[in-house]
Formats: sequence, C-alpha cells, structure tokens
Amino acid sequence: MIETAEAKKTANQAEESVTGQMMKFDHEEVLFCNDNATGLRAIIAIHNTVLGPGLGGCRIWKYSHEAEALNDVLRLSRGMTYKAAVAGLNLGGAKAVIIGDSKHIKTEALMRRFGRFIDDLGGKYITAEDVGSSSHDMEYIRMETRHVTGIPKYMGGSGDPSPVTAYGVWLGMKAAAKERWGSDSLNGKKVAVQGIGNVGENLVKHLTEEGAKVYISDINEEKLKEVANRLKVEVVGLDKIFDLDVDVYAPCALGATLNTANIERLKCSVIAGAANNQLADEKLHGEMLMKKGILYAPDFVINAGGLINVYSELSGNYSKERAISQADKIFHITKEIFHVSAKENVPTYLAANRIAEKRIESIGKVKLNH
Ligand code: NAD
Repeated sequence: MIETAEAKKTANQAEESVTGQMMKFDHEEVLFCNDNATGLRAIIAIHNTVLGPGLGGCRIWKYSHEAEALNDVLRLSRGMTYKAAVAGLNLGGAKAVIIGDSKHIKTEALMRRFGRFIDDLGGKYITAEDVGSSSHDMEYIRMETRHVTGIPKYMGGSGDPSPVTAYGVWLGMKAAAKERWGSDSLNGKKVAVQGIGNVGENLVKHLTEEGAKVYISDINEEKLKEVANRLKVEVVGLDKIFDLDVDVYAPCALGATLNTANIERLKCSVIAGAANNQLADEKLHGEMLMKKGILYAPDFVINAGGLINVYSELSGNYSKERAISQADKIFHITKEIFHVSAKENVPTYLAANRIAEKRIESIGKVKLNH
C-alpha cells in the first residue's frame, strides 16, 4: 500500500495517542493476532478482569490504519469494564477488532483461526457479536473455543443480543425523559435515531409503538427504504440529523459522534442511544453537554442490555424473559446516575464512572481477602 504524506501523518498522530491511551486506560493485556493463511488481522484488548473474565464483542471493520483499530479496541474494551461494573455483572472488560470489510473478509477459516487465538487466552477473554459480526460467526468461533457467547439459538445460545440492547436503551431514554420532563412517557416526543441497524431498528419499534415521532438516518439506503416502508418514521439526510429540532438524539451507529462541532449544532434536550463511546473526548464533551443543558444518558449504562443478555447465556439455561427482566434495572440505574450527577454537580458520564470504579474497587478487595 502506498501511503500519502497525509495518511502517514494521521497514522503517526494515532500511534502517539495510542501510547498515551494505553498508559491512561491501564490495560492488562493486548494481543495482536496475525495469520497469513486466512488473512486474519485482529487485536484483542483485555482491560480489566477484577470482576470476572473480560467479555466484549468482536467488531469487524475496515479501519483505514492499524493504529486506528488499536485506538478503537482500547477505548471499547475500557468501556466494557465500566459497562459490566455499572450493570452489576461479574464480568471484566475486553473487546476484539478484526481489521477488514466484513462483507468481504469473513470466511469459516478466518473466524475459526480467530477462535484459536481466543482459546489460547484460556478464558480471560470471552467474545460475542458486535458491528460486522453475527451469531453465525460465533458458531464458527465456537468450533475452536468455548469462550464465546451470543451463539445461535439452535446451538443452545441466546442468539442476537440486539433486541435486549434496544429494550435497555429505550428504558434509559425513558429514565432521561422522567428526569427532564417529569414523565417517562415518550409519546409525542420527537426522537432522531442515527443508524437503524440491529439495535436502531428495534429501538425505533419501541418508540413508534409508544407514539414518538421518529426521524431516522443511515448510510445504508436500502435499509432506510425498507424500514420507512414498514414503520411510521421520517427519513432525514446523514448530516441533517444534527440540526433537527428534536427532543432526543439517539446515536445508534458508530462512536464519537458527540464532538465539538456536532454538539454545537444539536437542539435536543436529551441524548440516549446505543452506540459505544459516543463522546469523542469523554471529559471535554461530557462537560460541554452539561454546560449546554443537554441530559446525556451514558452509553455504557443504557446499552448494557446486550451484555446482560449474553451474561444470562453464560450463566446457563438461557431465557429471554429472564434477560429482559434483568435489563429492567437499566431504568433505575440510569435514574441513580442522574441523581448522583445532580447531587455532586458533575457530568453524567463521570457520575457513572464513579459508580463503576467504586464497585470494582470494593469487589477487588473482597477477592484479595480470599
Ligand atoms: P449494526 O451494524 O447492525 O448497525 C449500525 C448501523 O449504523 C448500520 O445500519 C450502518 O449502516 C449505520 N451507520 C454507520 N455509519 C453511519 C452514519 N455515519 N450515519 C448513519 N448511520 C450509519 O450495529 P448494531 O448492532 O445495531 O450496533 C449499533 C451500535 O450500538 C454500535 O456502536 C454498537 O457497538 C453498539 N452496541 C450494540 C449492541 C448490540 O447488542 N448489537 C450492544 C451494545 C452496543
């Protein structure tokens, strides 16, 4: 590959920030997986295993550079540590990324080779689905390791976690509505959903059933048309979503859409969506939202439904009803975070981080004593 000067500059900047982030985020282990026979290029990042084995999905994405993939996996795995901790699960945080276009690189051999790398970690990392991977891919990984979850229902697994994730996001949005408008009803509220993939579409179903006025955007035009034909929604342009006069913005595509430029444009009072790592810079943009008077429901708190679902699968005898009832607590946890944020006058992301860190610290002490 011939690199332009601009691409080299971006890569160097990314590499610099990665070194800084690895130190800041304090990862336990980062594994680079290369296999020429299958073309597998993957990174597994284990952030923290104090509460239990690191569980996090496998993202397959066409990163423009390996440094970008590393940056992503470091941020995502840290987010999983906090997500599991706040949700009260006995899980640590980890994540994997496979570099490449999921439409072209996925083969049985590649997924199984990835499974072998996971198996070598001896259970410190448990994988699951994420953007670009499916329960069918988990089936291939399962042929090489038992440290995988989200496997298809016909294999005794829990299948696609997205419906439970969407349910939790909807509850988190309702908790934010209660905090902001005094009622948890979203009936008549205007909600902009960015990304109508597995989670986004399920969220849109909850919202339209409840009587919200929903706007959707997606880079996948076919999917947009298909959803607009089936559900009562209005399609908007990719960039226009940030300028809409709506009550709620729900980022359900990729992360980092809450950056300085976009936040300045937003007119909503609440942000509640499924995407991981929505804040481009946690501190800067978390504070910016607070100053702007926008109530931000932290992503890793309200999108924990999928993790709760696969945790239920790991515990054995999976039942969707049980997973859904465990996900119900997302409403109360989100309210608790708003309460701490108001009481301590700190941004909501920080309130959530503090709750997570407190639990990791206290359970870490319990484990040390035995
Ligand atoms: P998905 O791949 O099924 O859906 C993502 C959608 O976003 C796709 O339709 C894609 O075309 C669209 N998209 C990408 N870039 C876009 C852009 N710039 N503007 C508008 N749309 C765009 O993924 P998913 O499983 O629905 O997950 C969505 C987000 O939620 C991801 O960030 C994922 O990490 C997070 N998440 C998912 C789960 C889960 O259970 N699937 C759990 C927790 C968090």
